[in-house]
Amino acid sequence: MIYVISGPSGCGKSTLIRQVLAGLEGVRFSVSHTTREKREAEVEGKDYYFVSQDRFLRLVEKDSFVEWAVVHGAFYGTSRRELTKDRNQDVILDIDVQGAAQVRKKIETAVLIFVLPPSFRELRKRIEKRGLDSALAVRKRLATARKEVRSYTVFDYVVVNDDLETAGRELESILRCRRARLAARQKSLGPILRSFRGKG
Ligand code: ADP
Ligand code: 5GP
Repeated sequence: MIYVISGPSGCGKSTLIRQVLAGLEGVRFSVSHTTREKREAEVEGKDYYFVSQDRFLRLVEKDSFVEWAVVHGAFYGTSRRELTKDRNQDVILDIDVQGAAQVRKKIETAVLIFVLPPSFRELRKRIEKRGLDSALAVRKRLATARKEVRSYTVFDYVVVNDDLETAGRELESILRCRRARLAARQKSLGPILRSFRGKG
């Protein structure tokens, strides 16, 4: 199953996703391509594939992306390969609302989850506290956030990230719940159902 997580920059998407990946088996993170500069703590191939603009545009021409968009002045995209490389696991995409809308059109079964901070003021605090952005970049992210929240109706679920533990558990429970649906579970039911046909 494909899970798309979107929400304004700084609302806590990466933090929540880390929490889910640590607490749940059988789920992996979709590593995006980006043309933005690598941050100090980031690892190539784990957080992103960092590529030049030329390389990114060549991949676009080759139709290598399921979705791509320009976010805060840089290119970001999810490669087809990233989604098909291990179909036995759930996969979580951390992408912006433009990308989420593209996934919605192309992959009907994808589950779209929107993360909101408890308020705009709290979002500003989190972005500033994270300390990764200049004053100008903070202003840009907040301006984008005002636009992004208008897209929330495209999504299937909304998680309000107020208390981190609670929001993390809620996100995890969305994945657990989808796994229990008949269509998702059917394949693994064979042995159980067969056992009912024998003498016991
Ligand atoms: P995003 O991936 O959406 O840009 P991050 O996961 O980087 O956001 O979170 C932004 C900042 O907010 C980080 O410093 C993170 O530790 C902090 N944060 C995330 N969730 C919460 C929360 N529920 N309460 C307080 N701070 C949070
Ligand atoms: P950051 O540069 O802070 O890691 O991410 C900035 C924004 O880009 C976030 O909203 C994140 O969700 C989005 N993003 C990351 N990867 C992708 C991607 O592959 N496609 C799209 N459309 N957005 C992405």
